Amino acid sequence: MQTSQLLILGGGPGGYVAAIRAAQLGIQTVLVENENVGGTCLNVGCIPSKALIHAAEEFHKLARYDTESPLGIQAGSPIVDIVRTTAWKDGIVERLTGGVASLLKKSGVQVVKGWARIVDGKTVEIVSSPAAQPGSGLRISCEHLLLATGSEPVALPSMPFGSQVISSTQALSPGALPTSMAVVGAGYIGMELGMAYRKLGVEVTIVEAQERILPAYDTELSKPVLASLKKLGVSLHLSCSVLGLDDAGHLRIKDAQGAESTLAVEQILVAVGRRPRIAGFGLESLLLDMNGSAVRIDDQCRTSMRGVWAIGDVAGEPMLAHRAMAQGEMVAEIISGKHRRFVPASIPAVCFTDPEIVVSGLSPGEAETAGVDAISASFPFSANGRAMTLESSDGFVRVVARRDNHLILGWQAVGGGVSELSAAFSQSLEMGARLEDVAGTIHAHPSLGEAIQEAAMRALGHALHI
Ligand code: FAD
Ligand code: NAD
Repeated sequence: MQTSQLLILGGGPGGYVAAIRAAQLGIQTVLVENENVGGTCLNVGCIPSKALIHAAEEFHKLARYDTESPLGIQAGSPIVDIVRTTAWKDGIVERLTGGVASLLKKSGVQVVKGWARIVDGKTVEIVSSPAAQPGSGLRISCEHLLLATGSEPVALPSMPFGSQVISSTQALSPGALPTSMAVVGAGYIGMELGMAYRKLGVEVTIVEAQERILPAYDTELSKPVLASLKKLGVSLHLSCSVLGLDDAGHLRIKDAQGAESTLAVEQILVAVGRRPRIAGFGLESLLLDMNGSAVRIDDQCRTSMRGVWAIGDVAGEPMLAHRAMAQGEMVAEIISGKHRRFVPASIPAVCFTDPEIVVSGLSPGEAETAGVDAISASFPFSANGRAMTLESSDGFVRVVARRDNHLILGWQAVGGGVSELSAAFSQSLEMGARLEDVAGTIHAHPSLGEAIQEAAMRALGHALHI
């Protein structure tokens, strides 16, 4: 039997970051991955979706120049070769996953390709596939076992994946574009990919169980995205439930009043959430405490069994790559003897819709729920020169701060390109900035960042440009 100090199951952003950091710290580390390293994020998640969104945006922009453009630009009728688009996306994925493999090798991590099956809290067997016979593989023992097995898409019981019913994984590698698509779920994936497909010329209909799109965000933030959906000609069925497929393979839905109808679409993208990957590799034999369907962890990512750790999506919400990476780095440092806790001031989140949404820290509603006496102020991009020159003046930056000492509690923004503001937002929260600190910062002109300063100034009652 092979031995290791740290054995990591899963080479996604959580697992590979933990492995690199652990090896840097001199911990003898083995990482087991059944697919390519990089996990959901690099292979079938964050990166491929952002590539497709960018390609769709470029195509849409050109298509707009076909008729009329206030910029005075005219272009011919654009066409998109989606096979080439997919190949371009695959090239980016290969560069990134290849880069991760090199980093793991360079830092001295042993990567074992195969399916990990837990024997006990200190022993794992690596087999060729989830279907392989137990006892047929390599056994590795460890001092520390780190679960980083990620998550998988949730299927609808009435409509399992297969044929025209696809998950984000298939939607990110189209061999051809359908003429029409229904998207079930108006959360992150449904909205990001639904908008991208629409921009590529596909007739898109969104079906959402709740009464509004992006229910995780407040309505002020989702309103500009809703306006953009309407402008793009996306059909919306809100407060609707999905009944399944009819004999012709079309989607049957029921509205809030109980009226049934059918959507005759070529493809159906089901994006109703993801669930932690906890089945099929013997995890249940450890009898770990669970938090719903996620592995329960404390603020050091320890599970209820000594020496067994869990990070990233398998440990539940928020299922975001940067959270998995931060947890992975921390666990490696704790195992090496450092004193660390996972208590970030905020974990930012970005929804790459058009316009984009970014949130970091508390919203006004969340501050109220938390019983904090807070003030908030917004600055609209309609008063920001940079936003106007980018033809993207819908949206705003909003700040939330304690009323008594002006400590900033949260930032939110919606608008073109606001994803890049997440760094400034999270830094100000992590560094304990007050409204006066941000209002007193000189921001480059013209930039979207000026709206951050103006929002803070507005909260203090002296915005200059509104
Ligand atoms: P994963 O990335 O899921 O990696 C887990 C790995 O474990 C996989 O490679 C899997 O093959 C391997 N594995 C599982 N079980 C075994 C086993 N028994 N043996 C061997 N290997 C195993 N997040 C963001 O922050 N920003 C975004 O823009 C974003 N966009 C997304 C877009 C889409 C379409 C999707 C689906 C997700 C997106 N996410 C985004 C979420 C992000 O991808 C995840 O939060 C992140 O990948 C979680 O990392 P992880 O390391 O926990 O797990
Ligand atoms: P989600 O939780 O963001 O959205 C799911 C949506 O589906 C919700 O609006 C929900 O009300 C709706 N829904 C649920 N059941 C339904 C049903 N039966 N019929 C109709 N609607 C239904 O989930 P997702 O979009 O699948 O994304 C999964 C996770 O992946 C996200 O929570 C996020 O953590 C991650 N992700 C992040 C990004 C990003 O950071 N930009 C992008 C994509 C995915």
